[in-house]
Amino acid sequence: MSARVADNFTLHTNGRSGVISYSDGTSALDIPWEISGSSRYDLVLAPFDLRQWRVPAGQPIPRAKQKDILAGLRHWLASQRTRSDIDLPAEQQFSLQPCVWHHCHHTALPGSAYCAEHFDETLLGL
Ligand SMILES: [Zn+2]
Repeated sequence: MSARVADNFTLHTNGRSGVISYSDGTSALDIPWEISGSSRYDLVLAPFDLRQWRVPAGQPIPRAKQKDILAGLRHWLASQRTRSDIDLPAEQQFSLQPCVWHHCHHTALPGSAYCAEHFDETLLGL
């Protein structure tokens, strides 16, 4: 799923910041980024807003598509060996902590209060 959109991203740099452009042929979106001040990350993306397309202007992006773009962006950044604050908190490994999301029955990612799905929900906002 993420591989399908992984090639649709382009990094544009302007000094210490820029945008990552996403395009799927009919729709387009710019995601702003900044150079991270922390050694943990290369780029800082969050909090970001995937709710509306730039093209067609102002059209809402369905939640499922937002998740697709987020997953694709994460995959693409990994392929560029770029670390960012949207990376999942740690490698997938066994954890016994429950996700704190209401009524979620998954276990949380190591180093996070949330499972992978709800980590993405917190990135995308409510
Ligand atoms: Zn959860």
